Amino acid sequence: MADDELIYLDNNATTQLDPVVIEEMLPFFGKYYGNPSAGYVFAAQARKAVDMARDQLARLLGCEPSEIVFTSGGTESNNAVINSALQFEARGKHVVTSAVEHSAVLRPCQDLTKRGGDVTFLGVDRHGNVDLGELEAAIRPETTLVSMMWANNETGVIFPVEKIAEMCREKRVLFHTDAVQAAGKIPIRLRDTAINFLSLSAHKFHGPKGVGALYVNRRTRFHPLIAGGGQENGRRGGTENVASIAGLGKAAERAMEFLSEGKAHVGSMRDRFEKAILETVSGASVNGAGAARVPNTSSFSFEGIESSAALLLLDRHHICCSAGSACRTGSQEASHVLRAMNPSGDGARRSLRFSFGRFNTEAQVDRVIEIIPRVIEKLRQIAAPVRETAQMRPETTAIGPAA
Ligand SMILES: *Cc1c(COP(=O)(O)O)cnc(C)c1O
Repeated sequence: MADDELIYLDNNATTQLDPVVIEEMLPFFGKYYGNPSAGYVFAAQARKAVDMARDQLARLLGCEPSEIVFTSGGTESNNAVINSALQFEARGKHVVTSAVEHSAVLRPCQDLTKRGGDVTFLGVDRHGNVDLGELEAAIRPETTLVSMMWANNETGVIFPVEKIAEMCREKRVLFHTDAVQAAGKIPIRLRDTAINFLSLSAHKFHGPKGVGALYVNRRTRFHPLIAGGGQENGRRGGTENVASIAGLGKAAERAMEFLSEGKAHVGSMRDRFEKAILETVSGASVNGAGAARVPNTSSFSFEGIESSAALLLLDRHHICCSAGSACRTGSQEASHVLRAMNPSGDGARRSLRFSFGRFNTEAQVDRVIEIIPRVIEKLRQIAAPVRETAQMRPETTAIGPAA
């Protein structure tokens, strides 16, 4: 491969559109511009595309097409669930979630607390796992909703959401999962689960940005976040984003092919990468290594580096990866996920996330395996004198203010 070829290892932030998906979308920017709700024959192509996408996505999720509501993405889907669950308030205004959720769950939950609601943010252990006993104990008579992500966007750690959903069903509490990082990466069969709501986003599995879906179990009451025309069976107002929905459907179909045919070489690339980095770089550790993880994500902590400086150097080598979540790039704030896993350590500031996708190649893996050890070594050389002076500063000693 050429020295200046881009190596995109930030597939948890967004993914490359599959060319097949683009093909599927194009007619709806051109000749088939009809409104799917119109009654004439010309609109039937658009309507058919939306129906087909619903079928394709239902196959990926193992649910009924009627249980799918198209939205503008993962963020909207998450907001819609939290809004809907609290509308009914049969039990009360208490929500249980985890401290490591994406901001698209954390922020609406924090907003709830300002509107008279009450939220429990469950911590995780150093591997990123939740304690199911602790979760069960957090559910109170006034708990309306439990929301736990399926796979973590920073570490790839998988929560046992099927088990958690069963627990919630027994306690008659609604259960939602943000599955944005799980959909298309691991098999999902909602039919066999007690999950009430599930969020996903097309651009995390080679579909277009700005479109996603919410699964609402057919027996679960739902109050729309966006009221308007009766689109999506009255569950989400607004003229359907036909081209994007068609793209989402195709992306779901492609993800199914890759999952079922075992074509996913993503997992073996990630494993080879991790093994090589652990062998060649001292003071490197994998965040969440002790937990079940999705096959594409690798979150590393490197002793003696600052993630922001590492990103700059890697960028010069045309390697795209991230420090913590993409939404926080530019801010100096360390990842809330890694802090939750290790509150007393500084791992959050020394971490890099590499997330693979099916368009990555073995040659790219070879190249990053060669470059990363050099970059880390260089950063440590630069940082060494700084660290020595830092040790003499009183605020960094054990008697300094608690973090
Ligand atoms: C990316 C992401 C979201 C947000 O999805 P958008 O479609 O970008 O709004 C939500 N949750 C998780 C876990 C994500 O990774």
